[in-house]
Amino acid sequence: MNPTLNADLHCHSVVSDGTLTPEELALRAKSQGVQLWALTDHDEIGGQARAAAAAAACGLDYLTGVEISVTFLHQTVHIVGLGFDANNAALAEGLQQTRGGRAQRAQEMADDLARVGIKGCFEGALQYAGNPNLISRTHFARYLVETGICKDTYEVFRKYLTEGKPGFVEHRWAHLKDAVRWITQAGGLAVIAHPARYKFSANEEMALFTEFIGHGGQGVEVVTGSHSAAESVTYAATALEFGLAASRGSDFHSPTESRTELGALPVLPGELTPVWALLEDRITRAPRAASTRA
Ligand code: AMP
Ligand code: MN
Ligand code: MN
Ligand code: MN
Repeated sequence: MNPTLNADLHCHSVVSDGTLTPEELALRAKSQGVQLWALTDHDEIGGQARAAAAAAACGLDYLTGVEISVTFLHQTVHIVGLGFDANNAALAEGLQQTRGGRAQRAQEMADDLARVGIKGCFEGALQYAGNPNLISRTHFARYLVETGICKDTYEVFRKYLTEGKPGFVEHRWAHLKDAVRWITQAGGLAVIAHPARYKFSANEEMALFTEFIGHGGQGVEVVTGSHSAAESVTYAATALEFGLAASRGSDFHSPTESRTELGALPVLPGELTPVWALLEDRITRAPRAASTRA
């Protein structure tokens, strides 16, 4: 177990809302100095076999990954799963159910945008979806940039697609309990993704962490591309307070859209237990001598 390992355990490919293939991500991660990698597509594990094969081919240690959308106290919370058996039937079925409502939601989002005069968004967004079963707000954002309505995807999420703005459609995702159960029963470890991004009160956040742990969750992202340095300090303390292992991941989506490059993150604070210390026997070691052991 190495707390300073360059682990990047959160990123997205064309299988969800990233712009690179699993193979391109593996090569990019390797060239950026990543030693342990996980591809964590939203609500989809269809890229796992490709990611694992590509990781092995370029000498990267690999953990299976997924980022599951959950509804908790009327907000969307993301739960990352790491080190599960990607062939687990209950996990695959749960994820398929979670993805199920996306097409209908996308149509409603497009209808709402049409009401403010922005037409053709469903078809436009679909062109960007590498996986038509996983049409997401990110694909809408790319279309709104392409049409010149916004200058970048950050502007899109400031003006559209978020609560109270045109194109936002409230959606009921998986239950927290189910997401944690799918991951843990498939042999994996559940992690609360980017906790600073939620708009919970202190009491609500306490409920999230307490219920998550009650269901068998064991980790929290501390160092992520979605956190400022101050937020990482805050959630390092939270990890210690709740006895959770800490994860590290860029949340990389695209070379042109992402602010954080693969692997380009501070190391985890030394007093924390890294999630990879609990996942030693779940890591697929690259067959090359050049790879660094976790
Ligand atoms: P969805 O699962 O369809 O609700 O889409 C969520 C995705 O949209 C996230 O995974 C991010 O990639 C992107 N996203 C959501 N909110 C923002 C935001 N405020 N800024 C940038 N990207 C965002
Ligand atoms: Mn995303
Ligand atoms: Mn997320
Ligand atoms: Mn993500």
